[in-house]
Amino acid sequence: MKTDPKNTRKPLAFYYVIAMLVLMLLNALVFPSLMSPRVREVSYSEFLTMIEEKRVQEVAMDTDQIVFTAQNAEGDVSIYKTGLWPDEKLVDRLNESGAQFTAAIPTQDSPLLSFITGWVLPIVFFVIIGQLMSRMLAKRMGGNAMQFGKSNAKVYVESQTGKTFADVAGQDEAKEALREIVDFLHNPDKYKAIGASLPKGALLVGPPGTGKTLLAKAVAGEAKVPFFSISGSEFVEMFVGMGAAKVRDLFKQAAEKAPCIVFIDEIDTIGKKRDGAQGMGGNDEREQTLNQLLTEMDGFDGAKGVVILAATNRPESLDKALLRPGRFDRRIPVELPDLQGRVAILKVHAKNVKMDAQVDFDTIGRATSGASGAELANIINEAALRAVRMGRDTVTQTDLEESVETVIAGYQRKGAVINEREKKIIAYHEIGHALVAARLKDAAPVHKITIIPRTSGALGYTMQVEEEERVLMSRADMLNQLVILTGGRAAEEVVFHTITSGASNDIEKATNVARTMITRYGMSDQFGMVALETVNNPYLSADTSLMCSQDTSARVDAEVQKMIAQAHDKAIEILTNDRDLMDRLAGHLLEKETITGVEFMEIMEKEDHQ
Ligand code: ADP
Ligand code: MG
Ligand code: ZN
Repeated sequence: MKTDPKNTRKPLAFYYVIAMLVLMLLNALVFPSLMSPRVREVSYSEFLTMIEEKRVQEVAMDTDQIVFTAQNAEGDVSIYKTGLWPDEKLVDRLNESGAQFTAAIPTQDSPLLSFITGWVLPIVFFVIIGQLMSRMLAKRMGGNAMQFGKSNAKVYVESQTGKTFADVAGQDEAKEALREIVDFLHNPDKYKAIGASLPKGALLVGPPGTGKTLLAKAVAGEAKVPFFSISGSEFVEMFVGMGAAKVRDLFKQAAEKAPCIVFIDEIDTIGKKRDGAQGMGGNDEREQTLNQLLTEMDGFDGAKGVVILAATNRPESLDKALLRPGRFDRRIPVELPDLQGRVAILKVHAKNVKMDAQVDFDTIGRATSGASGAELANIINEAALRAVRMGRDTVTQTDLEESVETVIAGYQRKGAVINEREKKIIAYHEIGHALVAARLKDAAPVHKITIIPRTSGALGYTMQVEEEERVLMSRADMLNQLVILTGGRAAEEVVFHTITSGASNDIEKATNVARTMITRYGMSDQFGMVALETVNNPYLSADTSLMCSQDTSARVDAEVQKMIAQAHDKAIEILTNDRDLMDRLAGHLLEKETITGVEFMEIMEKEDHQ
């Protein structure tokens, strides 16, 4: 059973159309009779003419006007009025024409009718409009006025998410932990017999795109118990108190359906630390929602069989109260996949795509170090799209390699026009990186060099791929990295005796590497093993906060400059010594625009054997 009240909501435009129709109807029915002159005003001379023509039938005198009835040319009688004139002969003229004198001629409709048109109809009209508006408002806030603040939690039952653990590649530890929870819900007695009680809540934490939501959906697929799924942002409501009401309702539903699983995705939207710093109204609302969540989590006992799962990629921003024992006391890390994991994820997503028999996922896996599951899924899809574009019916290795670059560096900018001199500079720049990398001990081998510009703004790049998965970086590795990063600019200097803006990205990366070595990895002699910076959010952008005095910070800056300058000197030295080889490599790259690591090594070896 999956209820989604959103589908039954009528669009706002519907109510506007209704209101317009009512308005038009009223206008047509009521207003003409009110507005149209039932009493026609005529000039005094016209009045006299009518008397002369003996058309006037009845006449009444008011304080400031004369009201009379008269026939028109066709013989229809209507009511007229005209102003009073000092006319002494009027009575004689009227007598002569045979008109009747009366006390009064009603110039208005019956008082009842005018009361209805003047008062009752407008009120009815506004009441109807008001009702429509309030209903509309209630609908937009989810549910009609009677179910104010109902949660819109979708209830999933097994088959409906269509995902199982088989769809989640790698992440074995996470799957193991979740499997235990599922098992508990199936056989609670097994656990009770020994006296074990399961955690009430488990928190999936990890960088974006690593499959947290996917894992939760897979749990729903495996659990065979009701699975309530709601996203943290759905609690954030227009009115204070609504979010809390939704939480209350969600847990009420869950208690009725126990054993069951409640999944709160992106819990950081409501679970942020309550620091009260922002102080605005929105904060209040979030705080109330969070408090309600804490209360509800304390309120039911785990034995009932309600397990709460939540996911977040900013665990450090969560309120400490949420992480206390008895709440989300179990953390399930969902990390970026390692080589094995990446290959497994590629294979899972390749299952639905027609792949060439020669495809080697291992190479792709090695070229995508640091990629998330979502990015890997995207790489497979981009490759399939490329195969279609190329008019092929299977995906080849080239498609995959190209799509790795697309996902990492953006699409090729085929139309970009770059003049010969600039192209030459770019070629030497990239060869500078590659040659330095090849000459350094233990640097990762060059996989590909290209000077085809990308939509991301890159004018070319050199891709290195480690031969095997690395989890640690040594000081020597990082120093190598600095030399390789400065290699591009160094080549420009050695060959053209000029420097260009093309190295900006390298410079930024080099600065980050050097800084991290000093402030976080304790890799500088000057500062030793002291943490000078902390990372604010390990899973999202790597923004950091300084943990040292201003004075120290200035010395760190000086040290960063020194390290980069040393790396740069080393790159200049390597490239000056290998000038001939660099010319040959750059010439080859200019001609081919893209060369593979194998081609690159062939040219290198030929040179070395001479
Ligand atoms: P998160 O919630 O952690 O940000 P998602 O669960 O939304 O990430 O993952 C996005 C997509 O990436 C998934 O729909 C899936 O296609 C793919 N994906 C991520 N991790 C994996 C994995 N371990 N195995 C298979 N596919 C994955
Ligand atoms: Mg998610
Ligand atoms: Zn560069």
